[in-house]
Amino acid sequence: MKKISLLAALLFPVGLWAGTLKVVATTPDLADIAAQVGGTSVKVDCLSKGFKDPHFVESKPSLILKLMDADVFIETGLELEVGWAPLLVQGSRNSRIQPSTPGFLNASKGISPLEVPQNPNRSMGDVHPGGNPHFLTDPENARIVAREIAEKFAELSPGDAATFQKNEKDFDSRIDAKMAEWRAAMAPYKGVEFVGYHRNLDYFAARFGLICAGEIEPKPGIPPTARHTEELIALMKARKIRIVLTQPYYEDRTPKFLGEQTGANVLTFAMGPEGAPGVKDYFGSVDYNVRAIQEALKGGK
Ligand SMILES: [Zn+2]
Repeated sequence: MKKISLLAALLFPVGLWAGTLKVVATTPDLADIAAQVGGTSVKVDCLSKGFKDPHFVESKPSLILKLMDADVFIETGLELEVGWAPLLVQGSRNSRIQPSTPGFLNASKGISPLEVPQNPNRSMGDVHPGGNPHFLTDPENARIVAREIAEKFAELSPGDAATFQKNEKDFDSRIDAKMAEWRAAMAPYKGVEFVGYHRNLDYFAARFGLICAGEIEPKPGIPPTARHTEELIALMKARKIRIVLTQPYYEDRTPKFLGEQTGANVLTFAMGPEGAPGVKDYFGSVDYNVRAIQEALKGGK
């Protein structure tokens, strides 16, 4: 018995072969998927809030503290968190979660990114050079991320591998069931155009057949200008665009103005848990978005 535990101690660093994994995710959508896959074998913490902009998070000591004893760090990747997460991970001095160690998971690794720029340069605005990082708005990508996370957890805590596998399968089945429901709800609105605030809805749009006619930001990360807003109003009138989708962390003056000028509905699109009032988890966020769009478009295109 002694021999076995000694061997185990040699093979697996303390705490990493069974028991509770301490997980820290950058955003609430990842944190929720990790919690669902990990179940009672993990403890999940999150570095940002769903009602705040994930591109910009203030590096507070409390966030570094969360990372100090983490076994796993999960980021969206594709440079969504490039402005803040690397600093925090480095600041934690936790050798288990540094990039290219087993405790570091880039959730984008199994995703086929949209909008990979050919020759990224400053004139394009604040573009993400690896492609658009807002892939979790498509539930099919949540499925891929859940699988990635389950594999990572099993690698770090082999004693719980069966539990992770089962939880991931349950998550997958739940996506199947909800996808059928969401697709049916969105089916009447194929080809409907909308205006967004930031270029963060393309994966959702591609999955459900909506078309993004433009964004309030003239270029990703660049604040609206009077001229661009005028152009958007003209476009919205010409194409009879009826919805503007925005997030709580963007100013609401311009979306409201577009609504007043064109009669379009201004809706909050929840980017994940906490992304809109009452939205508690990933499934809830998609439910919220589908329902909001459906309500706004009811009664013809
Ligand atoms: Zn972005």
